[in-house]
Amino acid sequence: MAKKAARKSSPTAPSPKPQARGPQPRAGKYVYFFGNGKADGSRDMKDLLGGKGSGLAEMTNAGLPVPPGMTISTAACTLYYKEGRRTPAEVDRQMINGLKKLEAAAGAKLGDVKNPLLVSVRSGAKFSMPGMMDTILNLGLNDQTVEGLKARTGNGRFAYDSYRRFIQMYGNVVLEIRKDAFERKFEDIKEASGAHLDTDLDEQALRDVVTRYKALVKEKSRKRFPQDPLEQLRGARDAVFRSWNNPRAIEYRRIYEIPDSIGTAVNVQMMVFGNTGERSATGVGFTRNPATGAREFYGEFLVNAQGEDVVAGIRTPQQIAELEKVMPKAFKELRQITTRLEKHYRDVQDFEFTIQDERLFMLQTRNGKRTGYAAVVIATDLVKEKLITPKEAVLQVDPESISQLLAPIFEPKAWKALPVATKGLPASPGAASGQAVFTADHAVEWTRQGRKVILVRKETVPDDIHGMFVAQGILTATGGMTSHAAVVGRQMGKPSVVGAGALEISESARTCIVGGQTIKEGDWVAFDGLSGEVKIGQVASKPSEILQVVAGQMKPEQSDIFRRFNDLLTYADRFRRLGIRANADQPDQAETAYAFGARGIGLCRTEHMFFGAGRIAHVQQMILADNEADRRKALAHLLPMQRGDFYGVFKAMHGCPVTIRTIDPPLHEFLPKREDLMVEIAKLEATNGDTNTLEATRTLLRRVEQLHEFNPMLGHRGVRLGITYPEITEMQTRAILEAACQLAKEGIKVVPEIMIPLVGAVKELRDQKLVVDRVAADVMKEQGVKIKYLVGTMIEVPRGALTADEIATEAQFFSFGTNDLTQLTFGFSRDDIGKFLGAYQDKKILDKDPFATIDTVGVGQLVEIGVRKGRGARPDLKVGVCGEHGGDPSSIHFFEKAGLDYVSASPYRIPVARLAAAQAALQVKVGD
Ligand code: PEP
Ligand code: MG
Repeated sequence: MAKKAARKSSPTAPSPKPQARGPQPRAGKYVYFFGNGKADGSRDMKDLLGGKGSGLAEMTNAGLPVPPGMTISTAACTLYYKEGRRTPAEVDRQMINGLKKLEAAAGAKLGDVKNPLLVSVRSGAKFSMPGMMDTILNLGLNDQTVEGLKARTGNGRFAYDSYRRFIQMYGNVVLEIRKDAFERKFEDIKEASGAHLDTDLDEQALRDVVTRYKALVKEKSRKRFPQDPLEQLRGARDAVFRSWNNPRAIEYRRIYEIPDSIGTAVNVQMMVFGNTGERSATGVGFTRNPATGAREFYGEFLVNAQGEDVVAGIRTPQQIAELEKVMPKAFKELRQITTRLEKHYRDVQDFEFTIQDERLFMLQTRNGKRTGYAAVVIATDLVKEKLITPKEAVLQVDPESISQLLAPIFEPKAWKALPVATKGLPASPGAASGQAVFTADHAVEWTRQGRKVILVRKETVPDDIHGMFVAQGILTATGGMTSHAAVVGRQMGKPSVVGAGALEISESARTCIVGGQTIKEGDWVAFDGLSGEVKIGQVASKPSEILQVVAGQMKPEQSDIFRRFNDLLTYADRFRRLGIRANADQPDQAETAYAFGARGIGLCRTEHMFFGAGRIAHVQQMILADNEADRRKALAHLLPMQRGDFYGVFKAMHGCPVTIRTIDPPLHEFLPKREDLMVEIAKLEATNGDTNTLEATRTLLRRVEQLHEFNPMLGHRGVRLGITYPEITEMQTRAILEAACQLAKEGIKVVPEIMIPLVGAVKELRDQKLVVDRVAADVMKEQGVKIKYLVGTMIEVPRGALTADEIATEAQFFSFGTNDLTQLTFGFSRDDIGKFLGAYQDKKILDKDPFATIDTVGVGQLVEIGVRKGRGARPDLKVGVCGEHGGDPSSIHFFEKAGLDYVSASPYRIPVARLAAAQAALQVKVGD
């Protein structure tokens, strides 16, 4: 049975709920003003104001230098869609009122020729979606106000630079004219005037750009570029609402499981300018390093630039430390403010600022996105610094993200053996090795063919998201640590190196030249996201530091990250209610699981043990036997092998309970394929092969045909095998009890739990329990040892859940097999869902893969019924889950509510499950 292991990253972990205080939402209010030290909103209103809007409100209330503005709420966005993509009159009325307040606060008026107010119009949803939606800057400029701006600032170059940016953004976002049409015109003028950088263009050249841009707008949209600032504002507002549903935003929400229904807010804010000259700048930063978590002020800026220049990766920005040299006063103030913000939010802040003529303005603050590695470092540091409590640390880290810490690193020797081809900025840690592809579409196509790829781009754009998602790593030639590739790479936990300027990439030729060497599509490339080094070739990787410690190859004292990881999970253990067990079939897996913190095995699939060396022949003999005596002979060979396995697994669990399931899958899985046998027979016949072999192969084929089932998943498997061949259950029980007795004699505690799969009727279980109890009594008598063991069942057939009260009269424990339960509740084959799941998700019939995240409404209901009925009949019934969902954070929230005793997950998911179980216990209640 193929096991589904599809994993998705989830959105940022919910942060601890702050106490509601300050301003509160009001029904019928769609526009929230902020300015002059007072805001209608607050940090508690993220749902309504989005992350950006609530951050601006909070900073305004805290007296920080924030340009005044207003936030049009997400509720207005919902209405916009409800009314068929039209903004209702009431929202528009409130916006006009807000504009009046804004004009008063700014001391300027929208459209005023002498003293024009210019605004930015920016999206801002509850969850940050970097670069996915649209932004328009410098709104309010037209042929007259641009002159007013020039006159007021005495800076014609700045005025026309702002105007050309505005026409381009508005033309692209609102009028839907392709960006590259503008860019081509811009490049033509740059070339004609011999300019190298954008900043080399003078006022005259920029006037020229404006004229050409307006002509382009007229040609493409058949309308004049709108000169009425209010028309501009309405157009921009509605376009931002629309951008909630552009394809890349939809794809982003799908990947990060952000609901489509929540909509975006729109922030209209007075412009401040980082592009008025050499005394102005704009930048972004973090209060700590978002890639490594190091406690260092971290960020980038550009002098004489506007915000999009920094994130778009068009010019490579300067490190923030340089700001201290060029604008010391503004730098000092920025340090003070951001330190204060970090204390206030008690988390790392990701901020945006603009310096206009040496005066600092804050444009955004929010909890910074970070890699899983950084998340662990930051949370443990914040506890040490007493800024947060261990409980808050547990709530701060996204459980899914910590699996990044288990990702492989390069084999140092193999890595060192290759020369460094170039070095870029280490945007997101991790070792990446794969075949180079130069487009996102190719990344997807090649990955589908089973290849590992590295997406190599000049710079990534939000439209590349699908390719970034599947790639092993992302490598770009331009852009800084906060460019799109860096931000998104980090968030996805993808190793990323950006701004590797020596790469000369030709996306059309699908090649890249670096240091005289040409990398063609398909050539192997490797890079280290922590150092930024890029190499040409394939490099073997090795387990992460954490895995090395877990495997005993490194001491905990030698690994800082292991100790932090361990501290965080130890905090988590203080708060969780759910027990954590592992799905493990071999002693080494059990050891790993124990080292990761599993305290029990929730599922040992015994059939996996049958594939070991020297076993399959006996298994085949057992299956092919057409009488009990022959079957028993084959089983006798398997007995010592199974006993040895169980001995190892028990021992690795140091006295914690071990649930061993009797044989489950359809027997044909162990037999040769019918088609292969037919080919073999044909060959033997054609070559006059050995007659004995020929006869034996023919007999085998006949038996395989007899055993053939039309629907093996619903056929002769699970408890049905034990019922038809009780001698299999006998052998397995004997192996379990003999191993347990042996350990008991050695003074080692063992708690075997024997589990019967696929039970749908109490009588099935009763039949098998009789066998188990009889053999167990025999073994204990023979060995002269008493072992306390339990007999229980999997609940994985809907009828089992529905009749759980009857089943609990026989079962001492239940374990929900949510893989089969999902399969049998939906009627979706777990091995074939891949063929139609995509279509189901595209059509929104299903939000998520129900084999990865539990369907709480249907399958979950059966779990709830099973728990209630089971415990009704046997109050001390132990109940767990061992389907794949046991390692999935949002499913774990459901199991917490359902009151299960434990979840069981694969060994490498144990850390994720520990953290998720703690968050679940802190956020929901049993019975919710
Ligand atoms: C299950 O069905 O959820 C389960 C754990 O068993 P298996 O995956 O082995 O069928
Ligand atoms: Mg099952």
